[in-house]
Amino acid sequence: MAFLLAFLLSFKVLNIPYTHKNNYDLLSLAVISKTFDLETAITDTTVNISFGTDAVYINREDLSYQGKVNGNLKYMEVDSQNGFIDAENAVYIAGALKGNYYYWDRTKHRVIESAYTPSIKSLNAQGNLIRIVHNIDLEPEAYNKDSIIEIKIPYGFYFGPPYIYFDDVHSPIKEIEITYSSHGTVFTLKPRRKIKFKIRSSTGLFTLMLISSTTETQETNKITNIEKHPEASVNKPEKPTHNKIDVVVIDPGHGGKDPGAISKRGTKEKDIVLSIARKVAKKLRKKGFKVILTRNKDVFITLGQRARIANKSKCDLFVSIHANYSKGKRAHGVETYFLSEARTKWERSVAAFENSVIKYELKEKVDEKNILKWILGDMAQNEFLRESQDLAAFVQESIVKKTGCLDRGVKQAGFYVLRGVYAPSILIETGFITNPKEEKKLRSKKYQNRLADGIVSGILKYKNYYERKYGKY
Ligand SMILES: [Zn+2]
Repeated sequence: MAFLLAFLLSFKVLNIPYTHKNNYDLLSLAVISKTFDLETAITDTTVNISFGTDAVYINREDLSYQGKVNGNLKYMEVDSQNGFIDAENAVYIAGALKGNYYYWDRTKHRVIESAYTPSIKSLNAQGNLIRIVHNIDLEPEAYNKDSIIEIKIPYGFYFGPPYIYFDDVHSPIKEIEITYSSHGTVFTLKPRRKIKFKIRSSTGLFTLMLISSTTETQETNKITNIEKHPEASVNKPEKPTHNKIDVVVIDPGHGGKDPGAISKRGTKEKDIVLSIARKVAKKLRKKGFKVILTRNKDVFITLGQRARIANKSKCDLFVSIHANYSKGKRAHGVETYFLSEARTKWERSVAAFENSVIKYELKEKVDEKNILKWILGDMAQNEFLRESQDLAAFVQESIVKKTGCLDRGVKQAGFYVLRGVYAPSILIETGFITNPKEEKKLRSKKYQNRLADGIVSGILKYKNYYERKYGKY
């Protein structure tokens, strides 16, 4: 209930001039410029929209755009003086440039501006799986409607490119269209061939398994044999040797010359997280897990060494434990990360802080942007994206349940420490050392025990879920 109220109060609307043409709402460059305080320019090959030094360049030929954000316009009309862009893309680009959350309300033809980070955190479409990570208060639903599939998420907001295309002919869907109204978000899936689906829904995670219909034409049958038995392919473990979960690496962040975050009182992140990690290890061992701690005392180990310890142990899960830092004193609560490109300024700043330990490891100064590129490029973690996301959701939910602390949600960012680990991996920010109240809790053994109970319970839930799903025991 509180959530519904917060939703209704959290956005404001802007009514601006638009035109309707060929089934699209269109905004003129002049209106975009005036409404969002942006610069626009038309060149022979591109239409440019910019805010300060940030810009988006729209290719006039194929309507793709690059720059601060990438995507594809649905519609554009330009002459030398002015131009018109489909409203959904226009407000998405404006929002990305300004760092605001703008959405185009398709039913009421207006701009919605939300003050909050989007409640739908990610959309991931890979092969036969559509995965949506969302705020736990949301309840997505999916329907077959003629030849399309609609996923409706009442009260949900997703900030991202409004049209996503899948050029690969093996992909069961051609396009996902994302539309908003004041009631929430609709993802419209346009399939390449006839498909059915199955829903798998857990806290904060909605998964759609697409199943090609048996009435496919012979030609599509030829494309891939796996798709003839899609259920078998979906349910088969991705790593057959890895379907039992009993080896866990627990990684207390920082240590030795690297204190991590430090509070005004002098509490050091490295001490708090070691104490929590030891408790987690003890509790997991009692449940029958084999547990390896990357450090069991106050020593410095490089981020690379942590990954090597994990891989040598052939662990099934990797859990890095940290405490959070914020410039303001008020921030509090728990967040759990998996490795993927950050979507918000906050996620980026948390990753930047946790990655800054590299300054202890390297002699020369390294450009932060290059480090991030390296972390995200060629990542072992791509293979475990789904598992890591699930593990993060289970652990986050369990911690919140056991401690009653603020749920800041499952998040994603580029963490160096998770990069090289060949197992589902998460990084938990157990609380803010910079918030005096939370700092006090984090120091107490009782609260540390509750945090540890939450982490263990999340790992157990994940183990049960995956072993039942993929195991033959
Ligand atoms: Zn840390």
